Amino acid sequence: MTIDLRSDTVTKPTPAMKAAMFAAEVGDDVFGEDPTVNKLEEKCAALLGMDAAVYCPSGTMTNQIGINVLTQPYDEVICYKGAHIYKYEGGGLMGNSQVSVKLLAGNRGRISVDEIAININNDDQHYPRTAVAALENTVVREAGSFYFLREIETISAFARSKGLHMHLDGARLFNALIASGDKASDYGKYFDTISICLSKGLGAPVGSVLVCKKEFAKKARRMRKVFGGAWRQAGFLAAAGIYALDYHVTRLTEDHVRATQLGKCLEKQWYVKSVMPVDTNIVIFELVPSVPPALFLEKIGVHDIKALAFSANEIRMVTHLDFNDAMLEKTITTLNQLRFS
Ligand SMILES: *Cc1c(COP(=O)(O)O)cnc(C)c1O
Repeated sequence: MTIDLRSDTVTKPTPAMKAAMFAAEVGDDVFGEDPTVNKLEEKCAALLGMDAAVYCPSGTMTNQIGINVLTQPYDEVICYKGAHIYKYEGGGLMGNSQVSVKLLAGNRGRISVDEIAININNDDQHYPRTAVAALENTVVREAGSFYFLREIETISAFARSKGLHMHLDGARLFNALIASGDKASDYGKYFDTISICLSKGLGAPVGSVLVCKKEFAKKARRMRKVFGGAWRQAGFLAAAGIYALDYHVTRLTEDHVRATQLGKCLEKQWYVKSVMPVDTNIVIFELVPSVPPALFLEKIGVHDIKALAFSANEIRMVTHLDFNDAMLEKTITTLNQLRFS
């Protein structure tokens, strides 16, 4: 049996989730007539304390639409330099929205009011107009570091006082909520658009939701059409999302515990130079120079374990619904016994 730690996107629907999918009532969502999609959208909006939501095929699409509805061409978006919206979406902000980005160093991906303050451009014809502050929670490039809501409250109040809109890439927002103890329904008021992924730790096979203020929903739907993401009987997939929100949120704690244990095991290995702090379900570590990522992956591959080369000297492991205690034990045993000679 393969142990796949490359990403929390690799999960397969459970039998109960599949049953919910097959039982879904569906209709044509482009006509707004898919009852299960409508139910998912209403559920997500209520959950985050906002008043609208648009169900989309991917988190990349919900991020791209989110930024698109909050900007005009030639605007600028402020974000962490390793933000998914900038680093891992194929240059979409430039292509889809014609905006530039101002990249901040951040503290493990969390940007601060002070950093934002000095990076807002003056209203002057030379500079792009700073339009959006975009946060990511948890931060994937920084091993799932997370914000507490009180930090977000401060950032949001400041950004809005400067006329900026607020976007959240909440691909793993539920991991952040579990780790911080904050309440989902308190989130909405600090943002104009929030992207959440149902296909990461929550274990749905497909789907992300752009939760937003009502005033942006119509344009968001238009842009979903433009991006080719307006779909038909998507209720079969939305049913998986509803199931995931009902049954797979609290269990994220388990993923965090297992990730912490993986991190502790890795810290003890001579072939590991350093491990980023493990805050949620993502483990990123640097190998010693004599062990290149390809060699490490080959060695664990012999034991049917998969991880991801994350840079020239880093490996990423992500825990998820399909990674259980027996698999954790086998992974730890394997890591303890790896030989590179
Ligand atoms: C996975 C991810 C997304 C969206 O990914 P899709 O594969 O397009 O669904 C967005 N932001 C972050 C931080 C992610 O990890």
